[in-house]
Amino acid sequence: MPDRGEIMQKSLNLMRIAVLGAGGTGCQLLTLLAEQGAELTIIDRDIVEESNLLRQPLYSQDDIGMPKAVIAAKKLTSLTKAESFFEDITYRNIQEILQRPRLVIDCTDNTETRLLLNDYCMKNSIPWIHTAASGVIGSVILITPNSPCYRCVFQEKRGESCTDSDVSIDILKSVAEQAVRITLEFLTKGKMEDGLLRVGLNRIMHISISKNENCPCCKGNYEFLEGRRTMLPERLCGTSRYLIVTGRQLDLVSLGNRLANVKLQTNDVIISDEYTIFKKGRVLVTAKSPSEARKKIVSIGL
Ligand SMILES: [Zn+2]
Repeated sequence: MPDRGEIMQKSLNLMRIAVLGAGGTGCQLLTLLAEQGAELTIIDRDIVEESNLLRQPLYSQDDIGMPKAVIAAKKLTSLTKAESFFEDITYRNIQEILQRPRLVIDCTDNTETRLLLNDYCMKNSIPWIHTAASGVIGSVILITPNSPCYRCVFQEKRGESCTDSDVSIDILKSVAEQAVRITLEFLTKGKMEDGLLRVGLNRIMHISISKNENCPCCKGNYEFLEGRRTMLPERLCGTSRYLIVTGRQLDLVSLGNRLANVKLQTNDVIISDEYTIFKKGRVLVTAKSPSEARKKIVSIGL
């Protein structure tokens, strides 16, 4: 029989929480949630690298080259039940992987995944918590079906991301602690944390937020979840060309002025050495990697 202290301590017993991202914030947060007895679904697409070891305490030298999600789940099994998905979450697999948990926590480092998650959670009325950390500042926000959504607050701005080189471990810990505190208060007492928390080294600020009347997601237009929009570059098979679907009409005249070596420009398309841009919103770009493709897209103002 567990004693009373143990019952009190494991306040998230039997509640399944899905955590996207087992990096800097994820490692801290997963450990805290496991200690509270939450059943965990851990999703991460990366493998452990040497540079992670300093700020990601779930991993050690022996884990280098192994999937983070698998290692994190293994290390937490002494505390709780944890399943892992070594996957890149997309509109095609999000339903199958998440399977309606009590709550989802975002510890990723990219806007694309957050917009997809926002659509999924709003559509299915699943509460979720967005976290971000960069340098010596972090953010935490609880999003529920009745609150402003991620897109209401951040639109499609590329937010803070958490990279190994520039983020303070104290901020990662504080962000994780705040996210777990909000999780506990919400799931066990039904208490809503209002607004956006900005987490600094020595203080925490509350920032009020409001619904955006023009937010497509809040109007039931789940374009990221339905795959009609993606900000993720997709490589075309057998080529070094990446496709990005912007989902909006593009101004080819002003884009034409920004591109070097334009070979063809009509009302519907511009073709340069590196880009093919269609007025209806599809862009092809030559690049060596998805991140280079993304940088090239951002560099021309898309
Ligand atoms: Zn919204």
